[in-house]
Amino acid sequence: MVDPIYSHLLGFQDKQCAICHIQNLKFIERELLEKHDVQTLGSIFVYSDEMGWFDFGPDHPFKPERATKTYDLCTRYGVMNHPWMTTLEPEAIDITFLSLFHDPAFLNLLVEASKGKVTLELLERGLGTPDNPILSGIYEWTLLVAGGTHEALNRLIRDDALVAFNPLGGFHHAMPGHAEGFCYINDIAVAIMHAIRRSPGLKIAYIDFDAHHGNGVQEAFYKDSDVMVVSLHETGRTLYPWSGYETEIGLEDGRGFTVNVPLEPGTDDEVYDFALDEAVFPLIRAFSPDLIVAELGADALISDPLTHLKLTNNSYQRAVKGIMDICPKILGLGGGGYDLYRTARCWTLAWSILNHVEPTDEFAGLVGGMMFGPEMEVGSLYDHPYHTEGEIKEKAFNEARRVVDYIKKEIFPLHGI
Ligand SMILES: [Zn+2]
Repeated sequence: MVDPIYSHLLGFQDKQCAICHIQNLKFIERELLEKHDVQTLGSIFVYSDEMGWFDFGPDHPFKPERATKTYDLCTRYGVMNHPWMTTLEPEAIDITFLSLFHDPAFLNLLVEASKGKVTLELLERGLGTPDNPILSGIYEWTLLVAGGTHEALNRLIRDDALVAFNPLGGFHHAMPGHAEGFCYINDIAVAIMHAIRRSPGLKIAYIDFDAHHGNGVQEAFYKDSDVMVVSLHETGRTLYPWSGYETEIGLEDGRGFTVNVPLEPGTDDEVYDFALDEAVFPLIRAFSPDLIVAELGADALISDPLTHLKLTNNSYQRAVKGIMDICPKILGLGGGGYDLYRTARCWTLAWSILNHVEPTDEFAGLVGGMMFGPEMEVGSLYDHPYHTEGEIKEKAFNEARRVVDYIKKEIFPLHGI
């Protein structure tokens, strides 16, 4: 019996010229094979309802309930219950793994903070600030987050799944000895460090689409050539963490394995896509990773209240498709995203793309868009196109061209391109 994938290919008819016909066949074959792979190997959605309700406080912009909204939206749009999908409820990470990246003295202080103690020593470590408040149970919660990221990555490495997404993870700002930027434990650095230690020779590309520079992950692998760290973000001239300039390219063995693409306020999809196509995708392709970890922070969206980038979720979709073309084995992580509803839409689309499924709203017309608030575009997950105009656009494009030129000159040759 002919495999249904190939019967579809055999049935493909085209009136175009022979070369176009072959290219189309190859494209369709690859699409179908990748779809076949995810359906065979499986996918993992890391989620716990209880974790989604952890509360950073009413005035804090970080709301873990985005994960719950994403889970609900994925369910509503019929992209959560396919037979190859598994929901993984996180378990606490083995705390000995944390010290791969974190200073044990900081971890001890985090335990104290989690019990509600407030001391000057904690403040010196970034604990008890408006960004990183002392919260009862925060240590235990971060252990679960890190456990989810760690387990998902392990399962991908073992080929127990082809793709995974942890919308509760992605705390890219946490530093070895202090908390910052809403991040306490760096689940990303810990998981990747453990992976490359356990599987020598494994090549991991970390790509950070969050609007803020992924400073903590950069710190973890700045002298490392096993991990390529790429971050696209709003320039440090206008946004926390005030770093991530294109001149930060790694040191020693890691020279050329850290790539920063700082972007001007007002950067829109067109400018972003240019940076992806001209700098980011060619470098990841040249690195040829075994696995990609993607921080899908949705705070570069135009509606985000904390940043000044102007992307639509069309750019996020394109970014996810682009990295899948290079390496189909992907762990997606949440990260930022402070417009909760649009973050949930963006991540629902990302999960759909990772699984090669099309979201369809089975309840459209029954509940309209009210489930996710009257401000949502009713019945659609997809943003309308948006273009920045005038001087802001010109400045954003000129700066992106300058940064891309720098990367092509300084980093491309280190990878033979
Ligand atoms: Zn962010």
